[in-house]
Amino acid sequence: MKKGKIGVTSDNLFPIIKKFLYSDHDIFLREIISNAVDATQKLRTLANRGEYSGEMLNAKVQVKIDKDAKTITVSDNGIGMTAEEVEKFINQIAFSGAEEFLEKYKDDANAIIGHFGLGFYSSFMVSSQVDIISKSYRDGANAIRWECDGSPEYMLEEGERAEVGTDIIMHMNSDSEEFLEKSRISDILNKYCKFLPVPVVFGKKTNWKDGKEVDTDEDNQINDVAPAWTKKPVDLTEEDYSKFYHQLYPMAEDPLFNIHLNVDYPFNLTGILYFPKLKNTMEVQKNKIQLYSNQVFVTDSVEGIVPEFLTLLHGVLDSPDIPLNVSRSYLQSDSNVKKISSHITKKVADRLNQLFTDKREDFEAKWDDLRLFIEYGMLTEEKFYEKALNFFLFKNVDGKYFTIDEYETLIKGEQTDKDKNLIYLYTNHPEEQFSFVQAAKNKGYDVLLMNNVLSTPLINQLEQKFSNKRFVRVDSEVAEHLIVKESPKHELSWEEKNELSPIFKAVCPENKDFGFIVDFKDLGENGNPMVITRNEFMRRMKDMSQMQGGMSFYGDLPENLNLVVNTSHPLIKHIFADRDAALGEDLERISSDLKTKSTEKDKLEKSKKNKKEEEIPAEEKEKSEELEKAINLLQDERKGKLTVFGKENKLAKQLVDLALLANGMLKGEDLDKFVKRSFELIK
Ligand code: ADP
Repeated sequence: MKKGKIGVTSDNLFPIIKKFLYSDHDIFLREIISNAVDATQKLRTLANRGEYSGEMLNAKVQVKIDKDAKTITVSDNGIGMTAEEVEKFINQIAFSGAEEFLEKYKDDANAIIGHFGLGFYSSFMVSSQVDIISKSYRDGANAIRWECDGSPEYMLEEGERAEVGTDIIMHMNSDSEEFLEKSRISDILNKYCKFLPVPVVFGKKTNWKDGKEVDTDEDNQINDVAPAWTKKPVDLTEEDYSKFYHQLYPMAEDPLFNIHLNVDYPFNLTGILYFPKLKNTMEVQKNKIQLYSNQVFVTDSVEGIVPEFLTLLHGVLDSPDIPLNVSRSYLQSDSNVKKISSHITKKVADRLNQLFTDKREDFEAKWDDLRLFIEYGMLTEEKFYEKALNFFLFKNVDGKYFTIDEYETLIKGEQTDKDKNLIYLYTNHPEEQFSFVQAAKNKGYDVLLMNNVLSTPLINQLEQKFSNKRFVRVDSEVAEHLIVKESPKHELSWEEKNELSPIFKAVCPENKDFGFIVDFKDLGENGNPMVITRNEFMRRMKDMSQMQGGMSFYGDLPENLNLVVNTSHPLIKHIFADRDAALGEDLERISSDLKTKSTEKDKLEKSKKNKKEEEIPAEEKEKSEELEKAINLLQDERKGKLTVFGKENKLAKQLVDLALLANGMLKGEDLDKFVKRSFELIK
């Protein structure tokens, strides 16, 4: 028997390990089982090379719990270790700058284990004592027994083991007795070992007999040693891919399609990614991509390792170049990992492009589910954006799909404005904006459906990239003005508009969330008498600030809606005629008074212009102020009369309400009043 000290520079390695590795205790089992798997694979390699002449049993790793002895044992039939190898591999731990490092990475057990090659020692996170019983494959090797209680002292002596291989016996410490529960170990095995390449057996399969769970003779193998991603794509059917998907995510719906990755240069990477069918956006992050290293589960939080938009995908990635035991921050800066990330982006884009080219119909059928993902990619990955321009699809309100190029061809003729901009009309809510959509269609325009959460930022991005494309929501202008093809024909002067607007302002609803600006346009006799529109720029700014939360300058502004009055419509002309009948004389008087007063004032202003302030006679100044006051009074009087007229004008009120109704904005009491007023008007 030999006693010795484990070769570390710090005397208190184990207390430190135990103290800092409080999170992620589960991984001890992954580490011990990975070593066991490695040992069996090494033996196979040696046998294949003719360097091992002994009996080659089927490789197998066994996990056993002994509740009475409070031990977990992991046994393998791999290469085993001689006493010298235990000295070399187990007792000598490269260990320098330990405390500093541990302090830095105290929350990251993976980093610590990886840094020191401490895979085996992670067993001390949960054990008060660990024994190794091993027999090397080498001819004439004796079995050995190593024992250590977590202090740097160990014991090494001759042991008893008939077959080549190793048992690692972990005596659970009092804080870790949870690991003696079958279900706990099952869960851990299921998480980390489900796809290991060598059978891992945990007890026997069970049956229910007389209301009791009893063991059968069959080994309970917990892993699939040849998961789909390790096979060649030609050897797999669609059904195999689908089966594997459900192996990963038993509750998920069938995926849309998959991408089988198989790279061996300049790094090794295999995997299968799936485009999931999401029932709603809430589900986006529930099932995640799983990252493996040689079939050993590493993590399912791949953020920072794969591009953000790819985290929406499902499936597995496996790369021996992704180090098993390192910290996340290390992974993210690793150059291999970066290469992997841009490679996957390219593969995903290529696959989408291939699908689009080969099976356009199928691609269109899946587009609504793919859209969010592709838009997210376009917004966040420049490389992906460039490739996606090829297969990104616009969908119009009739459910037809167009590539960017196709759509440009479609609308070029009708939807180019006087400045040679291509105008893309869209709706984000075809029901609410129904009448606007119809109006645009009646003019021979096409209307796109841009109605998901990423539509607004995507529109901004497309406008930035293409300087001649503008997106205009159908309700931001009356149809006649959505696309300005020639300079506007004669419109009312500012004076005239100013004079008319109080009538209609008086019938606009009062609301703290939005105000109304009254405008007058000639929309033709067949146009609607009044239309409510929302300024594209202001509305989009508001949408953006809502998405971003913080920047709220635009978000806080009350929304201004435009009430556009069609000056050519017979009903509006009717209102004008009513006004003339009721106020004609008054308005004429006010107008002519205003005219004389204004001319007088203008004259005074003119003569004042060439004089210095002190040269202007006092009476002239007084006169000027008097005129100003009189003009204001006259204007107020006119505004007052028109407001009263407007308030009492049922037709004007009815027309505003109809415009509000068309926008889904007439509700509650106002709606009730509208209905009652309609009956009155019909009578
Ligand atoms: P790593 O696996 O990162 O090298 P470990 O501390 O886990 O670090 O293991 C150290 C070494 O001990 C291994 O490289 C291997 O040579 C040896 N070893 C550990 N477990 C076994 C085993 N079950 N059978 C044979 N050799 C083993």
